[in-house]
Amino acid sequence: MYVDSHCHLSFPELAEKLPEIRAAMAEAGVDRALCICTTLEEFALVHALALGHDNFWCSAGVHPDNEDVREPSVEDLLALAAKPKVVAIGETGLDYFRLGERSIADMEWQRQRFRVHIRAARASGLPLVIHTRSASVDTLAVLREESEGQARGVFHCFTETAEVARAALDLGFYISFSGILTFKTAADLRSVASFVPLDRCLIETDSPYLAPVPYRGKVNSPAYVPWVARQLAEVKGLALEVVAEATSRNFERLFSRVTT
Ligand SMILES: [Zn+2]
Ligand SMILES: [Zn+2]
Repeated sequence: MYVDSHCHLSFPELAEKLPEIRAAMAEAGVDRALCICTTLEEFALVHALALGHDNFWCSAGVHPDNEDVREPSVEDLLALAAKPKVVAIGETGLDYFRLGERSIADMEWQRQRFRVHIRAARASGLPLVIHTRSASVDTLAVLREESEGQARGVFHCFTETAEVARAALDLGFYISFSGILTFKTAADLRSVASFVPLDRCLIETDSPYLAPVPYRGKVNSPAYVPWVARQLAEVKGLALEVVAEATSRNFERLFSRVTT
């Protein structure tokens, strides 16, 4: 059985096909999924998915790319974190990929938002789901400063260097691989995956985006997460069942509220 540790089932392209997706998940042996929240406005939708289905859970947080949305306070996040089936804070982090005309100095609002999420994670005891893109130096710096070794979590949809992976592992974080691991151009990422200890690896789809080969370019769904596991098994020279089992156990260990 496989777990999709990061998907966006509340997004319209997936939400409208939920019964088909759940059937495909069952067929593919994907028995659980974590539905990720990206705005406070969206929370009710992801929470309804988690409340409505035994094998779905959700997070609470505001994605760094979302600008014209309600800004969360620590108290806002803690109130959501206290609700049933909320097992993580995020997704949060830094994304300097779409700076446009702005400089990194102009992105203080993102760093401040990230700090709020880390404080909520520490106060609630829930793990962080971290998104970092073109911003790994600042992501690690803010995380070190705010967490003081007291935060847990995962670097999701990992695409960074070996050095960043080592830093994340040193902070006690997990590393989650998506369908990008299967892309022809991702040789560097596969070499990173080869050294991340299996007991710190998670797998995800980040669906509806980033469908793994052989579905690249199509709408992704949690049913495709075994393709990520297959690639990870190949990179590590392990049996597929070993990777499926380990990533499922890691999911339970990190998001420990899923088992209570
Ligand atoms: Zn993300
Ligand atoms: Zn995401």
